[in-house]
Amino acid sequence: MIAMPGLLIMTGPWRSESSVYGIRSASLSVSAGPTLSRTENCAGLITACCSSVPERAISTIRQEGSKIMLELPEVLTLVRQLNESVKNRRIRKVWPPTKAHKFCWYNGEPEEYDKALSGSRIAGAEGFGTFAELIFDNGRKLCVNDGVNLRLMPAGKVPGNYQLMMELDDGQALVFTVAMYGGIFEHDGSYDNHYYLASRNSTSPFAQDFPAYYLRLFSESKPTLSAKAFLATEQRFPGIGNGTLQDILFEAGIHPKRKIGTLEQWERDKLLQAVMKVLNDMTKHGGRDTEKDLFGVFGGYKTKMSKNTAGTNCGQCGGTILKENYLGGSVYFCPECQHQDLAGQHPVM
Ligand SMILES: [Zn+2]
Repeated sequence: MIAMPGLLIMTGPWRSESSVYGIRSASLSVSAGPTLSRTENCAGLITACCSSVPERAISTIRQEGSKIMLELPEVLTLVRQLNESVKNRRIRKVWPPTKAHKFCWYNGEPEEYDKALSGSRIAGAEGFGTFAELIFDNGRKLCVNDGVNLRLMPAGKVPGNYQLMMELDDGQALVFTVAMYGGIFEHDGSYDNHYYLASRNSTSPFAQDFPAYYLRLFSESKPTLSAKAFLATEQRFPGIGNGTLQDILFEAGIHPKRKIGTLEQWERDKLLQAVMKVLNDMTKHGGRDTEKDLFGVFGGYKTKMSKNTAGTNCGQCGGTILKENYLGGSVYFCPECQHQDLAGQHPVM
């Protein structure tokens, strides 16, 4: 815990069971505090807050508050597009936020970002977990997390409000906006935010050693954990969140509430295959059709279980796709294809 008076105020309510209300009131009280507004302290705030906020609450504010929620396929799509579109472009000027956003955090003062980045060249972009990061030829980096909306557009078409804007030497601009909450962190490579490091050091589902990593985590996790909680909480798999997990579980034929201790070995392995296959499909198609890319275009991956398909017919069995609230967010599933109880499971093939 960072020794800072403001942060101590927050930790109390966040530990309470009325987590959703708690996180809101706590966050509001802190961001209104005198010591914590768009400063280095606020970058630390995410570290401190996220480690003490119940995953359920985080999931809820994500679900309720924002239409932008990048997960690994969207992060990798964004990074590919950045590398194709702005690599080698020089930064003409970095513009600070047009107005303060209560839940947008920076590393230091955003007014100082221009000094750090102006005149440098974009050497490339990288994506890991829920972070996309621009790398500059002067050794500086700028990363954004999953709540930040990053768009490339002509400088003349930049909207009136943004949380950061980067004018490039070719007449285009990178525009950063935040709907619910998000972080735009400029740093020198030594940034040590908890979530950043968790994403940075995670084993990618596309890495060769991912199956071994998955099996180790599976064996170490409590058998009473649900399939959704296993995939999307505790930073076990940064980049898999409440969006991508819906199709992963459908592909695996596993109900979101199913306890992982009830999974047969073949189901555990099927879930592993589903993680790798579905994330690969989503990435190949430029992200999910519920999220937008660098150019503001929806991804080409057609989600099977999402807000777009709730109430429609399952493509596999024709049954109705259901939506339920679970673990602080919505789950979408087909009750025919994804049974919750062992008794209803498909026989071993
Ligand atoms: Zn079905």
